[in-house]
Amino acid sequence: MGAPEAFTHTADVGHFIAGQRVPASSGRSQAVYNPATGAVARQVQLAAEADVNAAVAAAQAAFPAWADTPPIRRARVLNQFLALMNQHRDTLAAMITAEHGKVFTDAQGEVSRGIDILEFACGAPQLLKSDFTDQVSTGIDNWTLRQPLGVVAGITPFNFPCMVPMWMFPVALACGNTFILKPSERDPSASLFMAELLKQAGLPDGVFNVVQGDKLAVDTLLKHPDVRAISFVGSTPIAQYIYETGAHHGKRVQALGGAKNHMVVMPDADVEQAVDALVGAGYGSAGERCMAISVAVLVGDVADKLVPKLAERARTLKIKNGMALDAEMGPIVTREARDRIEGYIGVGVEEGATLVVDGRGHTVAGLENGFFTGGTLFDHVTPEMRIYKEEIFGPVLACVRVKDFAEALALVNAHEFGNGVACFTSDGNVAREFSRRVQVGMVGINVPIPVPMAWHGFGGWKKSLFGDTHAYGEEGVRFYTKQKSVMQRWPASIGKGAEFVMPTAK
Ligand code: NAD
Repeated sequence: MGAPEAFTHTADVGHFIAGQRVPASSGRSQAVYNPATGAVARQVQLAAEADVNAAVAAAQAAFPAWADTPPIRRARVLNQFLALMNQHRDTLAAMITAEHGKVFTDAQGEVSRGIDILEFACGAPQLLKSDFTDQVSTGIDNWTLRQPLGVVAGITPFNFPCMVPMWMFPVALACGNTFILKPSERDPSASLFMAELLKQAGLPDGVFNVVQGDKLAVDTLLKHPDVRAISFVGSTPIAQYIYETGAHHGKRVQALGGAKNHMVVMPDADVEQAVDALVGAGYGSAGERCMAISVAVLVGDVADKLVPKLAERARTLKIKNGMALDAEMGPIVTREARDRIEGYIGVGVEEGATLVVDGRGHTVAGLENGFFTGGTLFDHVTPEMRIYKEEIFGPVLACVRVKDFAEALALVNAHEFGNGVACFTSDGNVAREFSRRVQVGMVGINVPIPVPMAWHGFGGWKKSLFGDTHAYGEEGVRFYTKQKSVMQRWPASIGKGAEFVMPTAK
């Protein structure tokens, strides 16, 4: 592969409402950085209430016709969009690297996993087929339909500016809803680009809208009476706030929160495979993945074999501008996030954990102002430490030593988060026990980052998800539709006289 073209546009990033790019009316904006250089690359405009209201009005106006469009015709638009996404995959990936910092090949992977959901949503006619019972009573049939909700909104985090919105909008649109996306203000360009591609694909104006913004935009969406449902992905305190406020305003809400994902390594695991898995899942995307592994639970004598190998790999990570094709890890998204992560390393030292590799103060030649930090490795971390309990969301891997499987399982189950977990073992019974007993929503057996495929649905347990349905897959279809039951008979089968008793099958 030749060198990919970097994304260098400097124009302000604004909204996309009723099929047009529109500037914000608020006059407020915020800097978007290139984290590799540390320079301000462009500004993102921040919506005022009026901008959000305009987007909701556009989506509300577009809803009746889109909801009435046959599912196969909706799917055809999504198929056109699919072709455009494939065509522009690398442009999107470069945009993601330029604003998020993750390495280009990882950004390509993010786009591909988003495209998987789009392919799933292209099956809308099959997904929306209803259940029908002939003859529930003599001359009477009963069936269920799933109908769209109306205007729905998605509020997304910085760490997957393409994939996480695509967990939501392809399914929502396939089901006949109209959509408002409020992306992260830290990497807003991908959302606008996808809006343009949807228009090019033939999506009617107003069906998909983007409002850039911060808390003001989110709060306006949460309270707006015409917004029927909110999908949120981000940190746990905000997820809980979105869930409670949305529910208070009568909305359907799914709010996915933060994580602290463990990987249990049993003494019978292949050590080299476990090291590869921990390095990729701990330091890939600089640990800024909700499914990153941040805790290695090392059972029995495995720690003494594994920690030196992990340390060697953490010390020699190729940390570069994400556009370098041999980069293994890029910068952190913002200076504040980098400083917060490095602050946690200080906390770990004060708490008495053994700092095996210290990533603080890492610099990359020629990119001295970039928001870089190195890979950090702690050993002898214990459950009462803050670096164990709290989500650091950076390339910091904590090793906890336990004596046996029971202790490992109890440790994982006692944690307040329950997003992802992995167990590395060559024993089928251990694997089976682990996957049945662990209190976590997504489990990997010898798979470090078990993000479910498009048709399975994504979601954690405990403080990693507020709400009842997971994102995408059939749960996504259920979230974006409401069920209606229809019971029907025709005059020839209606008996004479009023019935005063509970009708039963006749
Ligand atoms: P964040 O919670 O800061 O922001 C997420 C969204 O909420 C953004 O669009 C932001 O503008 C908005 N927001 C922020 N503060 C708000 C406030 N006070 N009121 C209303 N809206 C607000 O999250 P982030 O830093 O962008 O993303 C990282 C977090 O997301 C991590 O905690 C990570 O684990 C989590 N995450 C979870 C999943 C999952 O599937 N469970 C997936 C990706 C990321």
